[in-house]
Amino acid sequence: MHEWSLADAVVHSLLDFISSKGLKSLEMIEITFGEILELNIDIFREAFQDISKGTPLEGAKLILREEKALFRCNSCGAEWDFETADKILVREFGVMEEPVGIKESPLHFLPDLAKTLLRCPRCGSRDFDLVSGKDLRVSKVIA
Ligand SMILES: [Zn+2]
Repeated sequence: MHEWSLADAVVHSLLDFISSKGLKSLEMIEITFGEILELNIDIFREAFQDISKGTPLEGAKLILREEKALFRCNSCGAEWDFETADKILVREFGVMEEPVGIKESPLHFLPDLAKTLLRCPRCGSRDFDLVSGKDLRVSKVIA
């Protein structure tokens, strides 16, 4: 469950922001998270509310926005999405099934893994970038 550690990091950076700006509270917080994180929104929301209890963030409206993942090849310029990336991994390494039947993408745990395991679906190059959808950031706040 990485939701709690992510929520914790966000709450603390927001609290730093609030005190550096001399604010009393925030009315709205928009957080953009990369598709690759496969964030559980309900758990994140719950964690955020729990951790921010008793702080100036309590009661702020929390908006969560998912950003689609996009990979771009530096050799041929091809672009592909998360679903395609997942298929490439499955094809290269066999279907990854867990005993309980929950299939978790290895990208979920280690975005950096993509760099080592993936290759461009068009030209096969390993020289590519994950240009969006890889991180979590506070995209907007209203005080
Ligand atoms: Zn390519």
